[in-house]
Amino acid sequence: MDYQYWNPEIEKMPRADLQALQLAKLRAAVERALGTSFYRKRFAGAGITSADGVKSLEDLKRVPFTTKQDLRDGFPWDFLGIAREDVVRLHASSGTTGIPTTIYFNRGDLGRWASYVARCIYGTGCTKRDVFQNMISYGLFTGGLGFHAGAEEVGMMVIPSGSGNTTRQFRLMRDFGTTVLHATPSFLLHVESRMKEEGYSLEDFALKRAFAGAEPYSEDTRRRIEDLLHIDVFNSYGLSEMNGPGVAFECQEKNGLHLWEDGYIAEIINPETLENTRDGEPGELVLTILCREATPLFRYRTRDLTGFYTEPCPCGRTHRRLRRITGRSDDMLIINGVNVFPSQIEEVIMAMREVGNNYLIVVEKDGVLDRITVKTEVGPDIFMDDSRPLNALREKIRKTIQASITINPRVELHEHGSLPVSEGKAVRVKDLRPRDV
Ligand code: AMP
Ligand code: ZN
Repeated sequence: MDYQYWNPEIEKMPRADLQALQLAKLRAAVERALGTSFYRKRFAGAGITSADGVKSLEDLKRVPFTTKQDLRDGFPWDFLGIAREDVVRLHASSGTTGIPTTIYFNRGDLGRWASYVARCIYGTGCTKRDVFQNMISYGLFTGGLGFHAGAEEVGMMVIPSGSGNTTRQFRLMRDFGTTVLHATPSFLLHVESRMKEEGYSLEDFALKRAFAGAEPYSEDTRRRIEDLLHIDVFNSYGLSEMNGPGVAFECQEKNGLHLWEDGYIAEIINPETLENTRDGEPGELVLTILCREATPLFRYRTRDLTGFYTEPCPCGRTHRRLRRITGRSDDMLIINGVNVFPSQIEEVIMAMREVGNNYLIVVEKDGVLDRITVKTEVGPDIFMDDSRPLNALREKIRKTIQASITINPRVELHEHGSLPVSEGKAVRVKDLRPRDV
């Protein structure tokens, strides 16, 4: 395969050199972070009063973890490492898990961020001849402006269409010959399921690739989008605390996401014991950002569950690859005492061809027990008035889910295109159980 590199010296840097680069950047970041009120205190507690307190990458482990709660407690200025007049932008997390947290950028930070995103985009085979339609929210969410800047840096023609409004998305796609899409995986599936209704077919478009991220999805979902739209889908991972997109991305091998280790130091920990796991073992991703001055963050607990591939990638990049994120250490559902990740259910239903593109998991109390209902759309070829095949499908879904998660769910089938679609991150779980306070 003909691989493309944005910055070959960095992307293929020998690991020893990469680690030396990380250490130099880490020491500079520690020095700068002493200017924030949060890290001045945090570092003092760990006995670090200058960059000399960090002589090796191992020394980073003396610094306690930073959590989302720390960011909230330090709102609005405790994490700011530069003068306020040098801040040129802020972004805030979508607040999926509570009050949003704020990250500040100076001009250099924005330039660096764009170049990491450009590296991701270029590595998938895109060039300035591509037309890029950014079907994700602009504004405080980092996905819109983050991809926008990276795509412009590659030189693609960028259509800042934002999320939602499928009718207009189709028109833009056709009129300007869009070749590359960026969206959540659920929105890509939604677009596909609306195509026929809106009077289009694949031949009306010039689509080649899509970048899908911002929410967990399975390998089956990726394949489904690829098969339906006849494109290559690349997994994109980022989080607002670490700038947003541009943290880790799949190369043309589409087998694991290269995490840019010249910009981030990654660790995987056991979320219960908080110990670092052994190389290649799964756990929670912890990140230190090296490529941002305005808001330093050290050992940030992402809550995202993943692990590293240990074998090198055939593409020649030396930056380690993350496994597909399966969920978060905090979105686990406990159903009658059994731990269930929504991704386990998605994996089962998205592997079935008769099932449509949208689903919803509802958890309720039924007396003292928990009850889980899986509502899923049927594929476009299945008719809701023919009860025999429907009953058979319902039973098949129920049995397969039970075999996978050991819990017997109720299964509801809904007409193709009838379950609600969210414009941002898909809401896949409704937990209606009363909370103990
Ligand atoms: P936000 O800070 O609002 O951008 O949300 C970031 C979170 O979205 C991450 O911590 C992940 O939980 C999730 N996320 C982003 N990209 C992916 C991806 N490719 N796969 C799975 N989860 C993702
Ligand atoms: Zn690779």
